Formats: sequence, C-alpha cells, structure tokens
Amino acid sequence: MRVRPVIQVTFLETKGGKTKVRGRMSRPPKELGEVALFVPPDSLIEARMMRYGKRCCLATLAVRAGEGGAALEIGAKYAVLSGWDMENASLVLSPKHGWEETVFKPRDAAEITIDGYRCLVPITGSIDVNNLPGGAAVIKGAWNHEHCAVCMQCICEVCGPEAWISKEGVWVCKKCHEEYICPRSIEFHF
Ligand SMILES: [Zn+2]
Ligand SMILES: [Zn+2]
Repeated sequence: MRVRPVIQVTFLETKGGKTKVRGRMSRPPKELGEVALFVPPDSLIEARMMRYGKRCCLATLAVRAGEGGAALEIGAKYAVLSGWDMENASLVLSPKHGWEETVFKPRDAAEITIDGYRCLVPITGSIDVNNLPGGAAVIKGAWNHEHCAVCMQCICEVCGPEAWISKEGVWVCKKCHEEYICPRSIEFHF
C-alpha cells in the first residue's frame, strides 16, 4: 500500500474565496505544484503547493476559489496526493464519470504520420473517413486494445475484454472497478 505524505494544518486564511493553508508534513512532498488534499470520506480539494521548508517540514498551499477550501480545519490531518495518484483518486471519487460496464471490441483506426511517427487514431463518429489528413489509410480492427487507467492492465480480446468505461472515454479493468471504483476506495496498490 502506498504511504502518502500527510499534512497537519496549523494555519488557515480565506480571502476572496481563496484559502491559504500552512501545515506540517509527515514526509517531504515529491515536488511542488498541483496536489489534492483528501478529506474523508470521499472528497478531494485541489491545491497548489507553493513552498516547502525541509528543516521544519512546513508546507504552504493555495486553494483556488470554488475548490472547497472552507471544508479544511485547523489541527486536522489530510493525505496529500500528487501525480498519477491524484488522477486515480479523482477517477475513483468523482461521481461525474458515470461508469458503464462494457465489452471491448477492436475498432478500425486511421494510420496517420505525425513528425515522422506512425500514429493510430481510432475511428469515431466525428471523423470523416473519406477525408483523412495526408490520405491516411483506414486499417480494419487496428485499434485492438485499451489500458486500465488505474493499473495499466491491457484490456483486449486476448487479455479479457470485460471492462468499464467513463463518459469521457477512460477505461478501467473489471478488477479495479470492483476494488476501487465501486467502494470509492483510494487505497491503490502498485
Ligand atoms: Zn485495472
Ligand atoms: Zn491484451
């Protein structure tokens, strides 16, 4: 199980909807920049880590207006998520994704060359197959797999086509849907 840094809030200031947060970190952050504070049981507050002092382990974060900074409390501890961990947590916690059970089927794809690299683009309703850039060819069934956004497992007819897809077209495997998305759990294993 992943050990995330935890911040204990020592200072909070809200001005014009924006919240400034200061607190002591249980371990150094991986880097400064975009993070999310996990507020149990199921919300994430997006913030920007502005400063971190190694000596005293004090971090300063800025929460943009409308991000729910008012829910934070002095003295409370929050897990600090970053990078892929933050992306995955948002995938699991946000109800906006509208997950639907599906079965992967290979799709036709157009082969397009960009800067000398061969790229496959799956054919969707919004692509006019008769008017592809540079006269690209359509290859039958060339889009033959997807990857689970949480564990990167291949989703295809060989590895197993049963999966879940979000409204935005994000795929997750059956196992990750059962383990993380259904219970809205952010205890990712890597
Ligand atoms: Zn998975
Ligand atoms: Zn596969």
